[in-house]
Amino acid sequence: MKPIVIAHRGASAYLPEHTLPCVAAAHALGADYIEQDIVLSRDGVPIVLHDIYLESTTNVAQQFPSRGRDDGRFYAIDFDLTELKTLSVHERVDADESPVFDGRFPVVDLQLRIPTLSEEIILIEGLNKSRDMSTGYYIEMKAPAFHAAAGLDIAKATIDVLEAAGLHHESAAVFFQCFDPETLRYLKHDLDTPLPLIQLMGDNSWEEPPGVDFDLMGTEQGLDEVATYADGIGPWIPQLFKVDGLTPSQLVGAAHARGLLVHAYTLRADSLESGFKDFAALHQGVFLDAGIDGVFSDFPDITRRFIDAHFNA
Ligand code: CA
Repeated sequence: MKPIVIAHRGASAYLPEHTLPCVAAAHALGADYIEQDIVLSRDGVPIVLHDIYLESTTNVAQQFPSRGRDDGRFYAIDFDLTELKTLSVHERVDADESPVFDGRFPVVDLQLRIPTLSEEIILIEGLNKSRDMSTGYYIEMKAPAFHAAAGLDIAKATIDVLEAAGLHHESAAVFFQCFDPETLRYLKHDLDTPLPLIQLMGDNSWEEPPGVDFDLMGTEQGLDEVATYADGIGPWIPQLFKVDGLTPSQLVGAAHARGLLVHAYTLRADSLESGFKDFAALHQGVFLDAGIDGVFSDFPDITRRFIDAHFNA
């Protein structure tokens, strides 16, 4: 099978992540799927935003200076959608307000807005019609336990949007992804979703979510368990390789032996995560050496060209 290109937060190498222009660019650059990270507003609306915080990608600290919590952070869940819609989204910055990626889009105020999931679906369906394409959705539910503690069910809220858009059925081009195994089990067994589920795999040091042992998850025994509720895994690129960062680990083969897809994250030309000398070598490593089935890429055009050059339809 030809591997898939998942545009990571849209074509995020070129425009501020998760804005509608960034999504439109990903569509134009040939992504097979476009990623949506979902968090909920205070009034329970699924919005497309990577962090549960707002200050790294918006002007919230200027707009609502008194609305931070004691930890200094501005949480999306403390704002209603109408308030969130007044924020201007910019390129991602660090705590000291310097750009995370120097060579990317400048940190400027273009009056870009945080999209709702519904709005992003209208955009992608519109482009699928006008461009005669079938670009799909790759939806991550962020921090389900955090939302549950606030009385909100992020999985149910997300499914409700997809239902309303006619996209919650088994032939829809939609994946669900989550780091939390309990949420994936809930989606499968309680919400009866017909959509494929991808178990994201992080590093235990991130504690996201706390208590999940991703080292164990990557073993034969761990993957046996994942295969009972998920259709694939979403490992971090370093997990695909041994400590040299170049030789494939056993992970992809063990996943494939259980019928699990492997969609890894994240390809970034300006931040190589493994031991490869350049971006072309990293593409070769993940697709030709490790043998993954798809990848999240900040540079969907470059990844599209590599896959088209090396795999038949
Ligand atoms: Ca994500």
